[in-house]
Amino acid sequence: MNCKQVQRLLVPYINGDLDEREEGEFVRHVRHCPECYDELEVYSSVFAGIRQLDGDETKVDYRTLVEDSLKTSEEDVLDVRFWHVYSFLLKIAATAALFFLIMRGLF
Ligand SMILES: [Zn+2]
Repeated sequence: MNCKQVQRLLVPYINGDLDEREEGEFVRHVRHCPECYDELEVYSSVFAGIRQLDGDETKVDYRTLVEDSLKTSEEDVLDVRFWHVYSFLLKIAATAALFFLIMRGLF
């Protein structure tokens, strides 16, 4: 993902509208790109300010806003990866068990 793509996804990211793949790539880029990090900081502050004015959020820590958001995203992406691997292994185990049962039934 390049800077242009990240800039386009700033608002969807803040609104939580990215899928897990996009979110993972977005966070990886922002972690290594100071310009996009700064941009995210500005957007996050503006959006948090608007939510605060709307009364949706009462207390916002602007110093840790972006860090908290990026950490949450990284944890979410890790969780999703874990479940993908877990469900993949579970399917293999289920298939092996089924195969074993069929083979036993035939012989
Ligand atoms: Zn960038």
